[in-house]
Amino acid sequence: MNPDRLRHLTDTFFSVPKRQLVEIFRELLDAVEAEGHLPPGGLMSRNYETAQANPEIHVLPGNLKDARDAVFPFFWGTDSWNSDLHLENVKGPANAASMVGALACLLKNPNLCVDTYCLRSNELEVKAITALANLIFYHTQTPWGVFTMGGTISNLYAGKIGIEKVAPGTMHHGLTGPRVVGLVSQAAHYSNKTLAGWLGIGTDNLISIPTAPDCSMRLDLLEATLHELYDQGARVAFVIATFGTTDAYGIDDLAGIRAIVERVARAHEAIVPHLHADAAVGWTSCFLTEYDLERNELQMSDELLERVGRLRRAAEGFRTVDSVTIDFHKMGWGHYPGSAFIVNRREELRYLLREKQEVPYFSEADYRHDPALFTLECSRPGLGPYSVMASLAGIGLQGYQLLTARMIELASTLKARLERLENCKVLNFETPGPSVVFWVLPRGRDAKRIYEQVVAGTLPVESRQRFFSEIRRLFEKRQQSIDPKVDARLSFTSSMGYLPEGIPLPAWKAVFFHPRTDEQVIDRIVSGIEDLV
Ligand SMILES: *Cc1c(COP(=O)(O)O)cnc(C)c1O
Repeated sequence: MNPDRLRHLTDTFFSVPKRQLVEIFRELLDAVEAEGHLPPGGLMSRNYETAQANPEIHVLPGNLKDARDAVFPFFWGTDSWNSDLHLENVKGPANAASMVGALACLLKNPNLCVDTYCLRSNELEVKAITALANLIFYHTQTPWGVFTMGGTISNLYAGKIGIEKVAPGTMHHGLTGPRVVGLVSQAAHYSNKTLAGWLGIGTDNLISIPTAPDCSMRLDLLEATLHELYDQGARVAFVIATFGTTDAYGIDDLAGIRAIVERVARAHEAIVPHLHADAAVGWTSCFLTEYDLERNELQMSDELLERVGRLRRAAEGFRTVDSVTIDFHKMGWGHYPGSAFIVNRREELRYLLREKQEVPYFSEADYRHDPALFTLECSRPGLGPYSVMASLAGIGLQGYQLLTARMIELASTLKARLERLENCKVLNFETPGPSVVFWVLPRGRDAKRIYEQVVAGTLPVESRQRFFSEIRRLFEKRQQSIDPKVDARLSFTSSMGYLPEGIPLPAWKAVFFHPRTDEQVIDRIVSGIEDLV
């Protein structure tokens, strides 16, 4: 071995060259700052054509600037969602405290699978999980959980526990015997289909319960469906309720669902299904649980207080569920991946436990310190706990209350402004979250009346199709006519989550996510719509 070459390599890549790292990081920060002066969106057009044709790598060892240069065009070409004009989805800017946490994590690169590979980082995970559990379940004795790669995986943990509850030993001998099913609402996220498919119960056995106009699961239909399934001899592994649907922020009645699953399972002498709340989007409502509505320290308007009050009552339902999915990387303004799967009672994780002989290189393992004994993943990054605790400590409970309430306030303002226009109809007027889904029809059309007719099923199919294509066409027209420097970017959904008579409702969508978005942005959305039609 050539000792000089080896030394050169280790000096360059395996020391912590502080000066070079700081220099490169400053350059990247400068690029981010420069991006702030440009309209959001594609800073640089994509070049997929040769991404596969020319995946060349350097032959000779280089330095850290080669690393920088290799990624820079893609870094520059990637929007960091730092613009206050991004309103299209549940994706927003990550906060700076989270950045501090994430960078600290990268410097140590802990592996959260076992205690010995991550030392105090594991403690940080326990702390972060407990902090989130206290916020969500409110009073809980033995919460436990883990950070995962995303909401999809967090939901998957819940599905797996449910299957093991009603079909014990499936982990070892696979699914056998009577049909196993899981239930969600029609507005649930598609990740539930993913888990049904991947866990082997099959997407056909994931049953969607229709929603009410507010995009919440219809409890009468849940109850009837459960009776029917038990009568057919099916085993109901889980009900995954949604707290904050992805498009319209519909909220399932968690306590109501709890009462029904208990009652119906008892009537059929069945094992109670695992009740999980997919709060990937809606969990931040829990920041408002302790907000004193009387003192109203943040000076919320009466209308906002009313919405916050409703959200608080809905969030009390979390106390009745077995487990929950939260995505800190969505409404928590944290970095990816920051999803957590949390159980209300620690012993429920026993359904996932591996035998120690199955994980030979963790022979000393204790599941309280070594999540590898029950996690889907083996190696797990520490980014979640680091970015979460840094964010929670930096922004604080009051800070999160202010930010969460502000997003709701902006959504309410836009809803009220749109609802005043004859040719517009807000489809989720009553839901208290940060998202607005709405129709814009050509001037002269009575959007509210058309909505009523669609819901009542009295509108001829051809008219409905015409109106729906007008909604889409006007959206595209706006897309083409906006001034990207000042106009917000909105998105379009082909089904907002409520399906009257089984008909998916297309809608324009605006999600308030950026704390710097303000009333001026709303003014421009509304005046733009008035000019459009
Ligand atoms: C985004 C989302 C998910 C999936 O989470 P990922 O982190 O994107 O995997 C699950 N449920 C809901 C309601 C979501 O909005």
